[in-house]
Amino acid sequence: MDIIIDELIRSKRKTVSISITRDAKVIVKVPLKFPAKEIDRIIEEKKSWIIRNKSRVLERIRKKESINLSVGGQFLFLGESYTISTDYNEKSIKIKNGLLVIPSELMENIETALAEWCRKQGKIILKKRLEELSHLTGIKYSGCSITGAKSRWGSCSYKNRINLSWRLILANKRAIDYVIIHELCHVLHKNHSKAFWQEVEKHMPDYKNHKKWLKDNAFILDAFM
Ligand SMILES: [Zn+2]
Repeated sequence: MDIIIDELIRSKRKTVSISITRDAKVIVKVPLKFPAKEIDRIIEEKKSWIIRNKSRVLERIRKKESINLSVGGQFLFLGESYTISTDYNEKSIKIKNGLLVIPSELMENIETALAEWCRKQGKIILKKRLEELSHLTGIKYSGCSITGAKSRWGSCSYKNRINLSWRLILANKRAIDYVIIHELCHVLHKNHSKAFWQEVEKHMPDYKNHKKWLKDNAFILDAFM
């Protein structure tokens, strides 16, 4: 497979950089008079990295398109895929008989309506699960906020306040548990040291599977809104 450079940018810089954009374009930045032959050599050298990362982005785009916010389209909730349908008689969004039912009057602004619904569900479900897991692990936190973060699933502040993105509500339940346990463990360790991971493992021996699931499904974070 030959690498196609989508954009070559020459500028006053000292080093060469190769990056893959969110829409899977290969961007190469080089110093002003950098020889073309050298560019070819570097591309050849970085070939496998480019292929690997480009296909990762393409995969993410493909998965992202698996969420389709229209009647008959699919939507993920707690890791399950539901077909979107609409009903004139419904006044609020609900899951019924394997369908995600959207009131007809909300269809025009389905994206906003679903985001609002997920945020509300997140507040209820994530906060409750955090309380349960805090009880189970015996790790206490000082407070919790549900955010709309797209760059991370959760975080834990220096004052032991836990933030969780409502977007997590699309992930499966064990993956949600992993994020919550991860953040709870940050109450004890404010880093990703060996001791931190040992603490995570103590509460969730198979955490690596869920960590990987979240990495493979990171598209959920900016699937919509
Ligand atoms: Zn962390």
